[in-house]
Amino acid sequence: MTIRFENGIVVTGGLNSKVLWNGAVVTEGETIVAVGDATAMKNQFPEAEAVECKGMMILPGFICTHHHFYSTMARGMAIPGEPASNFVQILERLWWKLDRALLEEDITLSAQIPLIECIRAGTTTVIDHHASPGMRDGSLDLIEKAVRQAGLRASLCYEVSDRNVAGGGIEENEWFIKKIGRGDGQIAAMMGLHASFTLTDATLEKCVGIARDAGVGCHIHVAEDAADREDSIQKYRMPTVNRLQKWGVTGEKSIFVHCVHIDETEMDLIASTKTSVVHNPESNMNNAVGVTRLFELLKRGVLVGLGTDGMSSNMLAQMRCAYLLHRLANQDPRVAFLEAPQLLLQNNADICERQFGLRLGELAQGRPADLAIMNYIPPTPLTEANFLGHLIFGLVHARVDTTVCRGKILMRNGKILTLDEEQLAARSRELAPKMWQRLQGLAA
Ligand SMILES: [Zn+2]
Repeated sequence: MTIRFENGIVVTGGLNSKVLWNGAVVTEGETIVAVGDATAMKNQFPEAEAVECKGMMILPGFICTHHHFYSTMARGMAIPGEPASNFVQILERLWWKLDRALLEEDITLSAQIPLIECIRAGTTTVIDHHASPGMRDGSLDLIEKAVRQAGLRASLCYEVSDRNVAGGGIEENEWFIKKIGRGDGQIAAMMGLHASFTLTDATLEKCVGIARDAGVGCHIHVAEDAADREDSIQKYRMPTVNRLQKWGVTGEKSIFVHCVHIDETEMDLIASTKTSVVHNPESNMNNAVGVTRLFELLKRGVLVGLGTDGMSSNMLAQMRCAYLLHRLANQDPRVAFLEAPQLLLQNNADICERQFGLRLGELAQGRPADLAIMNYIPPTPLTEANFLGHLIFGLVHARVDTTVCRGKILMRNGKILTLDEEQLAARSRELAPKMWQRLQGLAA
């Protein structure tokens, strides 16, 4: 089926991003076949179905390179006991209980609801990191099913950790990686690891062996809090990144999430091994763990992407957060204007290319048909030269009208077409209090 998304302002994305007023994007099946002037496209593809995009901007679908779907049901939950005063307590009192309390249907709903939110935010590709020690085997299958039903793309993994049981989660990753193989462009697999401080050398060695044999990367939290760094120095006499490098966790397909508490030598190691870093500014602010030295990583040529860490599925909001955080942290109003959008628009696409083998984030002939179509009428001139100003100060507050992934329209006029939002939210409101109750009964 051929579709013309027409009469909108097209922003092509990619390295030489163009702005086309009264433009059109033509898709056929899962692929973009042409991008250009709306009238010319209408003449060239007269038979195509037309989707009116007047008053809208047509952008490449957004990408989130670190998410935790499983965190969904934490919303509004009262956390038992004293408020956590540090990062490890946040894990012990909230996340390491919540993940154990999840049952089969909770896992499915916990994926479906953020997938709906992704569609609402124009986020068409997600790299997720899952944990559910109480219902581990087959959990990635449940999430895969939800992703396929929603119509988005996702790279999935299970968070291996020695905290409950030695090597817990290795088999879940292993069989899922084998099942997915090279992937079909919609679902990809990684080896998921929690963090250095919950993983023994033996587990790291085993996981890296499986990942290497399968040709996939590792997805791991790195030095999110100072506790991860201190643990590594105390137990292994080396900082976190050095330890991970020693066991071969680094590499072009691997993702090191956060990297807040790392030194210059670790940054050099990340750069020399071409390991990707994913920055999650909102989460770092929420957990009060510190500020990633973003510019020092970028200066070294590190590929730094942007994730939400489960805080939301809205990538424009996350980009704006990065922009504001690094201005404040550096006390310099000249910085982050280029870098924050770069993480979202270019670097996330580069990271995904290593996972999916597809070039996302660009509207051009032959590229995947993933679109975020937003209601936005520019109140000032809009060109290639000032697009980032519109992105940071205007589009960030605009509503996504239509979301397209793999050529399929997943939302039109703000209505989700692939999942029943009301019904799923109602069921989640029934199940969440039961999960909260199970959580209350769990020991730390
Ligand atoms: Zn995370």
